[in-house]
This record gives sequence, C-alpha cells and structure tokens, in this order.
Amino acid sequence: FLLPIGAFIAAFIVGVVVWLSRKQLSPLGELAIAVRNREFIVHYQPIIELKTGICVGAEALVRWKRPDGSIVRPDLFIPLAEDSGLIMPITDQVFEAIVFDLNRMLVEDRTLHIAINICAADIKSGRILDFIEDRLRHTGIRPTQIWLEATERSFIDIDAARVTLGRARAFGHSVAIDDFGTGYSSLQYLQGLPMDALKIDKSFVDTVGKNTATSSVTSHIIDMAKALGLYTVAEGIETTEQADYLKAQGVDFGQGWLFSKALPAAEFIAYHRRSKEIYGTAPEVIQVAA
Ligand code: C2E
Ligand code: MG
Ligand code: MG
Ligand code: MG
Repeated sequence: FLLPIGAFIAAFIVGVVVWLSRKQLSPLGELAIAVRNREFIVHYQPIIELKTGICVGAEALVRWKRPDGSIVRPDLFIPLAEDSGLIMPITDQVFEAIVFDLNRMLVEDRTLHIAINICAADIKSGRILDFIEDRLRHTGIRPTQIWLEATERSFIDIDAARVTLGRARAFGHSVAIDDFGTGYSSLQYLQGLPMDALKIDKSFVDTVGKNTATSSVTSHIIDMAKALGLYTVAEGIETTEQADYLKAQGVDFGQGWLFSKALPAAEFIAYHRRSKEIYGTAPEVIQVAA
C-alpha cells in the first residue's frame, strides 16, 4: 500500500521539478538561443540640449526581436541576462548594431554621440572597452562620440568600476551615471569615480514643478552635479512644463517622449536630419572634462 503512495509522491515531485524548470530554465535557454542567433535590435532615443533644442545624439536601447516578430522590452530580459552572464555578448551586439546602423551619420557629424548602457559584468571584466576600441579602429567614429551609461547598482565592485571607467575616459569616452538617485550610494561615494555626467532618473523628472519633497531633492541633485562639474541629463521628460523647469534649473540635456520615443535606426536618422534643419548642430561635441 505504501509503495504506490511513495511512487505517486516521487512522480509528483519530478513533475513539479520539470514544471519549475520549464518555467525557470526555459526563458534562459531561449535567451541563449537569441544571443546565438543575434535576435537583438537597437532603438535610438534622441538626446536634446535643453538650452538650444539641438539633437546631440541618442541613447541606444536594446530590444529582443523574436522570430515571430514580437518585440520584448529590455526590462523583461536584461535582469536574466545579467544574472547569467549573457549580458556581455548582448552588450557586444548592441555596440555592433550602433556601428552598423549609424556609422555614416556619426562620421559625417562629429558633434553627435551615442550612449550605450553597460552593466556590472561589463564593468567587472572591462573587456567591452577592448571590443569597442577594436571596432572603432575599423570605422571613422571617434571614441569621444561614444558615451557609456552605468547605474549605481553596477558599482558593487567599486575598485573594478574605478579601473574600467578610468580606462574608458582615458580612451576618450564619456561616462554617465544612469538612473541617478535610485540607488543607495551617495554622491560623496561616487565622487571619486571617473565620470562626466549624471542622468537624473525619470522618477525625479516626474515630480519636478510639483511642490513635493522629491522635487527639492531633484534641485539638490542638479546643484551637486554642477558643483562637481558634471553634466546633467534628465530622462523621461514628457511635458513642456518639465522641460522648461529643468532648463531653468540649468540641466544640460534631456530625453523623453516630449521629444521622441526610442526610434528604429532609419527613423532616428530622419529625426536627426529634420532636427538639424530646425536647430542646427552643436558647435562643439560635449568633451570629456579630464
Ligand atoms: P534607462 O537606461 O533608464 O532607459 C530609459 C528607459 O525609459 C527606456 O526604456 C526608455 O524607452 C524609457 N523612456 C524614455 N523616455 C520616456 C518617457 O518619456 N516616458 C516613459 N514612460 N518612458 C520613457 P527601455 O528601452 O524599456 O529600457 C529600460 C531599461 O533597460 C533602460 O533604462 C536600461 O537600464 C535597460 N537597457 C536598455 N538597453 C540596454 C542595453 O543595451 N544594455 C543594458 N545593460 N541595459 C539596457
Ligand atoms: Mg540608460
Ligand atoms: Mg536611465
Ligand atoms: Mg531610468
């Protein structure tokens, strides 16, 4: 009598494990296949100089385009990619897409820059810098035209961050701290890091102009950035009120749906062409401070 029950329990456990592994391993397996088949595309969200309205470049944002044509947003697969180490080949593919999509435009207009998101594993290994350097050698794109964005969360290994970001700047890239204000680190902690810009997270931008505690935090972030000689970039600007407020506060650059959503390469190229006719180009590309 006990035997069938034991067998039943064993079968049940196996069933649960298979079910769980289907649920948990299968997305990873799919992602690995996507990396092998290069199923990633990059969209470009214009970055605007708030004072002049000039489009100074774009942030490269990855999307996973599945064979059935559906698009998966990065929030849904970047965490898995980071945990599994698959993020490094994905970062490589994003950079290759930038070169493939925008080479001509970047060579013709040296005032343009493209920001690429890197994460903890990229920072720890530093290998992405060699990869970028190697690819740039074969193009006319200058290192100063490539900005690196890293979040505070990616600085878990602060010594590695210091080394990698320092190397990046020595090579001519600019470094921006992404989603600033959402992590645990204080600006004082970050101060010793080689960096050029702070990106003010959308959650702060959402509150500007409103009379809340968060909006005064935003003013402090802007003031501190200025005191440290850092550029500021506000993300997720959706209204003219937000843009005007941030501009009045001296924020240098902005991006968000008010200006444009992230666009496929051809559309970004067209956007930039139109923008140039209206606003012209920046006289000087934003240069690395050091
Ligand atoms: P992020 O770097 O903070 O990127 C900004 C996100 O906000 C983008 O979402 C962008 O499309 C969205 N956004 C921009 N303007 C607006 C706006 O006005 N309103 C609203 N509601 N949203 C806006 P996306 O493309 O889904 O990217 C999400 C995050 O995924 C990014 O946050 C970035 O951390 C990460 N990510 C994207 N591409 C890459 C990549 O190539 N590598 C790595 N490591 N991470 C990436
Ligand atoms: Mg970013
Ligand atoms: Mg950001
Ligand atoms: Mg953000």
